[in-house]
Amino acid sequence: MSTFQSINPYNQETIAEYATHTQAAIETRLAAGHKAYRHLAQTSLEERCEWMLKAAELLKTNVDHHAEIITREMGKTLKEAKAEVLKCATSAVYYAENIAAMLRPKLISTDARESYVTYEPKGIILAIMPWNFPYWQVFRFAIPNLLAGNSGLLKHASNVSGCALAIEEVFAAAGFPEGSFQALLINSKDIEPVIADSRVQGVTLTGSTAAGMSVGALAGKYIKKSVLELGGSDPFIVLKDADLEDAARTAVKARMQNAGQSCIAAKRWIVEEAIADAFTDKVSHLLHAMKQGDPFAADTDMGPMARPDLADELAQQLQQTIRQGARLAVGGQQQSANFAPTLLTGVEKGMTAFEEETFGPLAVIIKAKQEDHAIELANQTPFGLGASLWTTDLDKAKQLAPRIDSGNVFINALVHSDARLPFGGVKLSGYGRELSTEGTHEFLNVKTVYIA
Ligand code: NAP
Repeated sequence: MSTFQSINPYNQETIAEYATHTQAAIETRLAAGHKAYRHLAQTSLEERCEWMLKAAELLKTNVDHHAEIITREMGKTLKEAKAEVLKCATSAVYYAENIAAMLRPKLISTDARESYVTYEPKGIILAIMPWNFPYWQVFRFAIPNLLAGNSGLLKHASNVSGCALAIEEVFAAAGFPEGSFQALLINSKDIEPVIADSRVQGVTLTGSTAAGMSVGALAGKYIKKSVLELGGSDPFIVLKDADLEDAARTAVKARMQNAGQSCIAAKRWIVEEAIADAFTDKVSHLLHAMKQGDPFAADTDMGPMARPDLADELAQQLQQTIRQGARLAVGGQQQSANFAPTLLTGVEKGMTAFEEETFGPLAVIIKAKQEDHAIELANQTPFGLGASLWTTDLDKAKQLAPRIDSGNVFINALVHSDARLPFGGVKLSGYGRELSTEGTHEFLNVKTVYIA
C-alpha cells in the first residue's frame, strides 16, 4: 500500500504518514459524494448558508489549530497561515450573505410567455489542489459549490494531507450532510477513473501548467467541465511617475510573501530605465532587512520553501540566469528548503528567470526603455494571470490596462484574490474563473426554461 508523507520543510522531520485510499475506499467516497449531492438538492439555500456560517465560525475559533497544521506541513510563517485561515472564514461569510443574488433565476424577455435561466447543481465536483495556499485554494472552490448544492471531492497535493483531512472535518462539524466534502488521498496517476466516473460532473485544478495540460486533456476526453488555474510569471510594471516608495514596498511583499510561492507573485519587476537605480536601491534595502528562519517564530518574515527539491530547482534557475549575464544583487544562499530572499538585476528577455516561472523568493529587475517597451516586455510571456501596474497617472493606467494580456490588472496595488472579484488567467495561466458570480456559475447547470 502506498503512503503520503507530511514532512516539516523547516527541519525535515516527518510529521505523519497517511495510507492512500484503496479502490474500495475511493468507490465509498464517490457513492457518498453522490448521495450528498442528492441530499443537498433537497435542502434550502438558507440551511446551507447556516452550515457555511458555522464553518466560518469553526475556522475563526480554531484559527491557531488550523494555522499550525499549515505551517508545519508547508512552511509558511504562522502569521501568514493565520491570515489564510481567516480569509477562508471571511469569504465563507461573504458568500453566505451574498450567494442568493448570484443564484437568483434571471428573467429574460423573449417571444415566450415567460423565459428565464436557473442555476442548478450538477453533482460531485473534483478539486485537484496545490500545497501553496492549502486552505484558501480549497475553500475558494468549496464555498460557492457547497452553497449552490454540488458536493466536493478533494485530491490535495500529497505533501499536505493533514490540511486536506482537517478541512474535511470542518465541513462535517459545521453540519453539512455526510459526504458533502471529502478528501481523496490518491496519487495523481490514479486520477483518470475518478474524472471518468459519471457521478463526477466537473474538475477544477489549481497547479502547474503541466498538470493542467494532463487534467484538461482528461476532462476533454470524458466531456467534463473544467476550470484550470495554472502558473504565472506576472509583470510588476513600475513607470517613472510611480510612487517609488509604495511601489518598492509592495513589490517586495508581492514577490516574497509565502516564500515566493504564489501563482500571482510579482515574478518579473519591469522598471522604467529612468528610475531603475532608485528602485533597485529601495528594494535591496528592504530585502536585506527581511528575516528568514523558523516559520513558528513571531519575528520571522519568511519561512522555508515547501520542499528541498523546489528550492534546488529555484537554485538552478538562479545559477542559469547568472550564467546568462544577470547580476546577483542580494541573497542567493540556499540550504535544504531554506532559500534567502534574492534579487537579480540586469535580467533580459531570453534569460531563464524571464522565460520560466520561478516559484520561490527570487526577484528580478528588467529595465524598460519607456512605457511601450514595458508593456511589450510584460506580454512577452506564455502566462497571463495577475499584472500590477504602477503610475500616478490613473487615466494613463486605464488606457494601458487593456493592453496587458492578463486575467487581472491591479493598478498601484498588490495582486490578490478577493471573494467579490472573479479570479483566473489567460494563455498558459489557464481558463475559467473562480470567485464572484462568474466563478460560482462555472460548475452549475445554467438551465433555460421557456414557456410558450
Ligand atoms: P502541481 O505539481 O501541478 O500540483 C498541483 C496539484 O496537482 C497537486 O494536487 C498534484 O498532486 C496534482 N497533480 C500534479 N500532476 C498531476 C497530473 N498529471 N494529474 C492529476 N493531478 C496532478 O503544482 P504545485 O507545484 O503543487 O503548485 C505550484 C504551481 O501551481 C505553480 O505553477 C503555481 O503558479 C500554480 N498555482 C496556480 C494558482 C492559480 O490560482 N492560478 C494558484 C496557486 C498555484 P501531487 O501532489 O500528488 O503531485
